Order: sequence, then C-alpha cells, then structure tokens
Amino acid sequence: MERKLSRRDVMKLAGAGAALAAVRVPLASGAEASPAERAAGSLGAFKDGKYVLPALPYAYDALEPLYQQRLLQIHHTKHHAAYVRGLNTTLEKLADARKTGDYAAITALSRGLAFHGSGHVLHTLFWNSMAPGGGKMPASFEKAVKESFGSLEAFLAQFAAAAKNVEASGWAILAYEPIADRLVVLQAEKHQNLAVWGAAPLLVCDVWEHAYYLQYANDRGAWVDAFMKLANWQFAADRYTEGRKARC
Ligand code: MN
Repeated sequence: MERKLSRRDVMKLAGAGAALAAVRVPLASGAEASPAERAAGSLGAFKDGKYVLPALPYAYDALEPLYQQRLLQIHHTKHHAAYVRGLNTTLEKLADARKTGDYAAITALSRGLAFHGSGHVLHTLFWNSMAPGGGKMPASFEKAVKESFGSLEAFLAQFAAAAKNVEASGWAILAYEPIADRLVVLQAEKHQNLAVWGAAPLLVCDVWEHAYYLQYANDRGAWVDAFMKLANWQFAADRYTEGRKARC
C-alpha cells in the first residue's frame, strides 16, 4: 500500500533525528528521473511497506561545476541507496522480533533505525537543499532569518562555521523549532546525534567525506563554500511556512 503524506504530516513528523517521513521529492526507482517525475513533487517515498530511493529533482550534471556529476551520481545511487536499504532491512528485523517476541537485538536495531532512518531523511532533504545556480532567499524568509539570528550575514556565518566544524562525519542543519517559533542551526554527528526533538530540518548540508572528497579532497571548507552557492532558499522558505502552519 502506498502511503501518501501531506506536507503537514511531514512537518509534524520531522524531528531532525527521528523522522522517517520523506519530503517533497519526485518518486522514482532511483534511476535518473524524467522531467515529469521531477515536476511531480510527490511526497510518497514509501511503497509496499518499504522506503524507496527518491529520484533527484534535477539531472546528475545540473549542479556542475560546483558539484560534479560523478560525485552526485555515486552519492545518490550508492550512499543514499545504502541508507534506504539499511532502513528497510532494519524494519524487517523489527517485524521479525515482534513475531517471535525475541528482543535480544532491540538496542542495535533501534540504533540502526535512527542511523539509517535519519540518513535517508537527511539525504532526501539534501538533494532539495541545492538547486542549479542556487537562488535568492525569499524576503519573508529573510525576515525570519534576521529575527532569529540578528542578521543574514550572522546566519550565513554560523551555518558555514557549523558545517565546517562538525566533528568527523555529519551535517549542518537549518531547522525550525516550533516551541520558540524560531530558526536554529544544528550540527548533526553521523546522521542522528545532536538533534533537537521536534525541530524540523529546512536546509541541510552533508559534510561526510563521501559528500565531497572526490571533488574537494580534504578541503571541506571549499565544499561548504560551494554548497552555500547552491543553497535552495526557496525550498527552506516553503518548509518554514508549512512548519509554522503545523505548529498551530
Ligand atoms: Mn551523504
């Protein structure tokens, strides 16, 4: 059975460390999407009881030269696909445990669920966090950024510093925290650690070495600077608007 999630459902579920809901991306087999698939904007990346690797919202060469085609293709079809596979395997093992009543592996399985689930959610967001040529930040969203961080420049500096300084493998995440009704910048170690529960990720930057080494070698800073030029602020702004609606 295919489960369709509304954008509101997604925002309600979207804690940075815990959400397993997919986001607004075209649904496909993981092969490069047709233009129609890219335009479809499907939320449903869950079919027949399994998570599905979503298609990218653009062609593999669309982010050149800042993000090379081969790097993007490997990242999507190998790394992201492995998280989807790991997530589905973990869900199967949990179903087996429920059947047999044998919960000897529950700690490892719960850890796997958070790791692979968060890896899948963040990569799905990551593809949408970039757009060919980047894009201007919508004025209403810039206003929210200024209210939360003091100025646009201060936000950009904090986000880049967070991304460049994640210890080992992880992410920088711009998130909406609904209690304070404010934006926050988080670091995530691996995919799931350092989350604020309930904070919905709006824009994410992958700083695992697999995200940049093929093109930028050990220069993570150069990759983060490139990401900032590709950042899709319209995507972040749309998710922010939906997140605030879901808060009420
Ligand atoms: Mn990655």
